[in-house]
Amino acid sequence: MDNKMESVIQQSLGALLDENIFLPRLNGDTRERAYQSLVSILSTPNHINKSFLRISLENGRIVRIPAFRVQHNNTLGPYKGGIRFHESVNEDEVVNMAKLMTLKNALHDVPFGGGKGGVVINPRDYSEKELNLICKKYVHYFSDSLGTEKDIPAPDIGTGEREMDWMMAEFKSIHPGETYRGSFTGKSVMNGGSLGRREATGKGVYYSFKYLLYDFVKDNKTLMDKNSTNRFVQTTLEHNRPLTIAVQGFGNVGSVAALEAYNCVHLENKVVAVSDRYVTLYNSDGLDIPALINYSNNHEGDLPTDKNILKDFGIEATVQNRDSLIELNVDVLFLAALEDQITETNQSNIKARIIVEGANAPITQEADKYLSDNGVIVIPDILANAGGVIVSYLEWMQGRETQFYKEEEVFKLLYDKMSTTFETVFPKFFNDSFPLRQNCYNHAVMKLSTILYRQGKLY
Ligand code: GLU
Repeated sequence: MDNKMESVIQQSLGALLDENIFLPRLNGDTRERAYQSLVSILSTPNHINKSFLRISLENGRIVRIPAFRVQHNNTLGPYKGGIRFHESVNEDEVVNMAKLMTLKNALHDVPFGGGKGGVVINPRDYSEKELNLICKKYVHYFSDSLGTEKDIPAPDIGTGEREMDWMMAEFKSIHPGETYRGSFTGKSVMNGGSLGRREATGKGVYYSFKYLLYDFVKDNKTLMDKNSTNRFVQTTLEHNRPLTIAVQGFGNVGSVAALEAYNCVHLENKVVAVSDRYVTLYNSDGLDIPALINYSNNHEGDLPTDKNILKDFGIEATVQNRDSLIELNVDVLFLAALEDQITETNQSNIKARIIVEGANAPITQEADKYLSDNGVIVIPDILANAGGVIVSYLEWMQGRETQFYKEEEVFKLLYDKMSTTFETVFPKFFNDSFPLRQNCYNHAVMKLSTILYRQGKLY
């Protein structure tokens, strides 16, 4: 993880000051002090909680597993963000991801702050019973700082409904009599989860792409001429050419985004490649995404890895090396795997003209600059992948009211919320020369800064 976020935050603050948007009434020393306060508030987390979970494995061995819960900022509401189970989890990464959550929630007007958790394990190495113990211990160790109005975890890489159900149950038994339905989101529907939460991130990711390229651009053609970086969008639309799409990552986000693209038949775009941690599957005529989802659902989330399996399941595709996907000659790349996928090493091999960040921080700072200097449009993580936390918010509300929405109501509210943000940031993106990421950060930082100022927190 690089410090891209830090420098984008600093640039946002600089832009707000330069343009005299922020704190126009302050000048001289007071202004400088307010600026310095903002820099330190936004770049440091409020709390870093860490511990070693003591777990007794089924083979009798005792292990101590590093675990984190970072609470970055709660200006807008309780801390909110997922818990990741992955071997590469480390303190810096969790801190950065917590910051990203603060900005994501501010950008989309979700009344939560930013937090993130992590446990340094590969969940595939543990039995169900051991994972249950890890979840319980996690809640046990951090229990004082968690809660419906304090800090609300959710799933992230390596965790899902099962883990959230376990954790909520543990929270309930540690805090009898306290409200508990809103203490975790991303739970199963039977345990107070929301319909549509599982698909929310992937659907939102595809929606951001569709909205920018089709819905928004159709209605705002004149804006397009102003900015040469958007020539690709303009040309594509004028020629009405279908696009080729590659999706990196076939988990909860990638598979749903791929399915949305596949189902959007009227646009005639084709998902020509998907990849997971083992392989890339390619078919220039378009892949059968429903068949691949069906396969992966029955094979522990993995894609078919050789041509015989593909043949047995009647799926037409060639099998390629996992990392080849990112450099394929396609128009659009959905990055829905891990962070740091496009770096200085492979940036010049990227052919896609539009990149949608389904994962958090999949592009490093250097690569981000390189891509934007070369006219590639990046729809950034905090804009594109907020569907998960937006529906988490709906789940939290439903839990408080103990009244639940129908699935179509959830998706309508999700799309309405994302559209409101798009209508704020897209016109600015086409009107000035900032990359979309900078625009989104400016908007989020502006919101946080104004609220901090009004709360008297900048003196
Ligand atoms: N882990 C997801 C994210 O990075 C969802 C967080 C949530 O629902 O709180 O946005």
